[in-house]
Amino acid sequence: MRVDVVTIFPDYLAALDLSLVGKARRAGLLDLRVHDLRDWTSDRHRTVDDTPFGGGAGMVMRPDVWGRALDDVMGAGGGDGGPAAHLVVPTPSGEVFTQRHAEALAAEEHLVVACGRYEGIDARVVEHYRATGHRVSELSIGDYVLNGGEVAALVMIEAVGRLLPGVVGNPESLVEESHGAAGLLEYPVYTKPPAWEGLDVPDVLLSGHHARIERWRRDRALARTAQRRPDMVAALDPGALDRHDVDVLAGLGWVVDGGRLRRLEDGPEQGPGEGTSGTVAE
Ligand code: SAM
Repeated sequence: MRVDVVTIFPDYLAALDLSLVGKARRAGLLDLRVHDLRDWTSDRHRTVDDTPFGGGAGMVMRPDVWGRALDDVMGAGGGDGGPAAHLVVPTPSGEVFTQRHAEALAAEEHLVVACGRYEGIDARVVEHYRATGHRVSELSIGDYVLNGGEVAALVMIEAVGRLLPGVVGNPESLVEESHGAAGLLEYPVYTKPPAWEGLDVPDVLLSGHHARIERWRRDRALARTAQRRPDMVAALDPGALDRHDVDVLAGLGWVVDGGRLRRLEDGPEQGPGEGTSGTVAE
């Protein structure tokens, strides 16, 4: 995969030389190139921003500078008849970036990430590339505001990069992770020593009984997800749950109702005395 990042702070992306992503770069699995947006300016001061039309605080990044940069960089990776680059624009007003976005982007051959600063990039840049047939994703890494798109680019490139074949040594370790295909958070994990600060590793994990360990982990994943991310439980496909899963979820206050999972305490028909009684309705 090729990834081009355009930024006014190329040094910010130096972290991508480290760890697994750095290794993937050195192994040729990820061709990552970082560009200084100011290389496409045409004035002595290498200006990339100007005051906002309509007034207001802050500065806005100029579309002409971005247009020159992106025209060069977007065309650079595709080659003859190759797929056009997918333009990723980090912005707090974008769709929230999830593991599903990471998976979809990991299937691309060429990503270009445009890192904004100041009040962001002139809105015509995204409009122009969409209108000219490019795929453009405006993505937020969460409901908060950063000073620039570089940290968001680091987040997305790491999430995408570790999904590329060969990057994570044991691909099995990607299967049971939080936010994977099961739609659950991962179960708690432990290592040596078996006793630490008065806290013992659960006996089952020391039992060597693989089926019991697998069931315990699945139960803990269900419980942790129900406790921390009820939105994820509500999104589970009941058809993908076995009978034991349904019983565990019932004990946590969730029932299968009308082809989806519903929390008893949310139900319109909930009466006095009802709660996490373990009732299963199918
Ligand atoms: N004025 C913009 C707004 O309110 O939506 C915020 C601009 S922010 C100060 C500058 C840049 O940081 C954005 O153009 C974007 O590249 C990046 N950025 C900030 N928060 C982000 C987030 N949550 N996700 C992705 N990128 C973000």
